[in-house]
Amino acid sequence: MARCSEYFMRLSSGYLFPEVARRTKAWQERNPDRSVLRLGIGNTTEALPPSIIAAMHHKLDLLSDRATYTGYGDEQGDVPLREAICRRYSELGIAIGMNEVFVSDGAKSDAANIQSIFSTDSIIAVQDPSYPVYVDSNVASGHTGLYNADAAGYSGIVYMPAYADSHFVASPPEEHADLIYLCFPNNPTGAVATKEQLRQFVDYALRHHSVIIFDAAYSDYIRTPDIPHSIYEIEGAERCAIELNSFSKYAGFTGVRLGWSIVPEALEAEDAPRGTLNRLWNRRQCTFFNGASCIAQAGGIAALSPEGRKECDELVSYYLGNARIIKEGLERKGLTCFGGVDSPYVWAACPDNLSSWEFFDLLLDKASVVVTPGSGFGSAGEGYVRVSAYGHREDVVKAVKSIEENI
Ligand SMILES: *Cc1c(COP(=O)(O)O)cnc(C)c1O
Repeated sequence: MARCSEYFMRLSSGYLFPEVARRTKAWQERNPDRSVLRLGIGNTTEALPPSIIAAMHHKLDLLSDRATYTGYGDEQGDVPLREAICRRYSELGIAIGMNEVFVSDGAKSDAANIQSIFSTDSIIAVQDPSYPVYVDSNVASGHTGLYNADAAGYSGIVYMPAYADSHFVASPPEEHADLIYLCFPNNPTGAVATKEQLRQFVDYALRHHSVIIFDAAYSDYIRTPDIPHSIYEIEGAERCAIELNSFSKYAGFTGVRLGWSIVPEALEAEDAPRGTLNRLWNRRQCTFFNGASCIAQAGGIAALSPEGRKECDELVSYYLGNARIIKEGLERKGLTCFGGVDSPYVWAACPDNLSSWEFFDLLLDKASVVVTPGSGFGSAGEGYVRVSAYGHREDVVKAVKSIEENI
């Protein structure tokens, strides 16, 4: 008889977004004549830039003719796309080789799959609060113990809490961890890490022979000078870090689907020569994945061309402009806000000692605005809400105005 995976059964139920949806729906039924203003979701809303659209149309034309039709592409990704990604790193002063780049259908799948090339007894460390996939993929693969509702976490995971006094940048843990997940600019807090803060993690990883998995999905939102865009800006990181990135938030590819991972040749594992982890990831991707859509890759090449870069920068600036409007509006109401500068997320402290869910309900009841409760990202997120800048400008302005007038 087929039985269910005992590890998948350990996953605590996905509570956050279903519960947001449930409360929003109940509110709408109670208030049929009011319309909900959404600042909750991390999903892009603006149209693709013109040079990307043209490149994807052109790729479709090539596919329409047997003389120019192509099927499966190179397993690690189309050469011009990997070259463009390497060029992007070289502009940051980082040398990445073509065989160190792995093109994928997005950073979420890479974040979920990367643990599979490491030993099952690896100890995992995550920031608290954090993007849920880092924890859930390790739970589902049996790298952790059971969920402990009292501790609001899984046994066997090292949680690195991040609080306001450190501007939501965690410190390396006291105890040993083998795999350390970091995300900067951070989802949900919008925090960015300085070179010095990242250097502490790289030093820790080199000392403990651990590997950092650095999620840089929001790196193109960094506008403050001297904030690193890549973990490889830190000396020695090529020996201890894997980097994940995505076209989702940079080029509006949340629905198109395209991302990449960097697994350096120099990356070290305790029990194998350098280059082994690179080859295991290559083996994993070639065996279980057949490459990203060629149409998406054509769009990605355009997104990294000089014209595409300009257009994507404007797109990112639009969302950063929304973030500024949100942050300034909430601050005028006296709320303490973090993030929202090099990030599309504003992390707002709940007033009057309200819990995340209590403030969520208040914003919905009084201002018709939906945000995301910070406690859904981990216990250290309690007392905060995440306000997302993904939305049409006019809707963002309307939501902020409603908060200012009704709270
Ligand atoms: C949106 C997001 C991603 C991107 O995921 P894709 O699968 O590439 O769409 C990755 N990491 C974080 C933290 C994100 O918020």
